[in-house]
Amino acid sequence: MRAAASPVQEWMDGFLFVANRPILDFLNTKPVLAGGPAELLPDVRALERWLIAAHIVASPRTKATLRRWRHSPEAVTFLHRLIAFREKLREAVLQIEGGSPPSDAFLAEVNALLLQHPLPALLHKREGKVLLETAFDLRRPADLWAPIAAATADLLAETDASRLRKCESCVVHFFDTSKKGSRRWCSMNICGNKLKVAAYQKRKRARDKSRR
Ligand SMILES: [Zn+2]
Repeated sequence: MRAAASPVQEWMDGFLFVANRPILDFLNTKPVLAGGPAELLPDVRALERWLIAAHIVASPRTKATLRRWRHSPEAVTFLHRLIAFREKLREAVLQIEGGSPPSDAFLAEVNALLLQHPLPALLHKREGKVLLETAFDLRRPADLWAPIAAATADLLAETDASRLRKCESCVVHFFDTSKKGSRRWCSMNICGNKLKVAAYQKRKRARDKSRR
């Protein structure tokens, strides 16, 4: 996972990474761009690219496994379920942002995924230090539920809900890691500047009007 303080590249391989939480970045794979709502995960190849851009799949071996699934009907079925899950997650996140807990049905669905697809963590020694790292074995497309379910559980149970927010100007959600907790936009480049310019023009119009 990226450190919040490091400068973050907002777009990677055509995907938006502004949320400070991988599971919210996943939610943001359906942003509204200039041309309207955009589905950034239209096929298995796009999912493969997203998993790599999000660092969920990193090893050469798992990347090779993903490549083999490009034309797999099982992977297509998984993607359809994943997209349906993303929209339920959106509903849950909107509920949390509105001050309510997510529905029991959604918790039951996440619990079923956690039980069926546990995310193992293993100890590794690196440079004299012992590290606990998640490891999931990718044998079939449904194994990809493991990191998705674990990240969803982490978001629902471990995330400060008051820092979970939707951009004031678009559909993108993010976890606010700013010092003051006053972040309002998905990104300064995407919505921040647009709104600042609009606010400036509004003030200017009002000023011009009062001078007339
Ligand atoms: Zn925005």
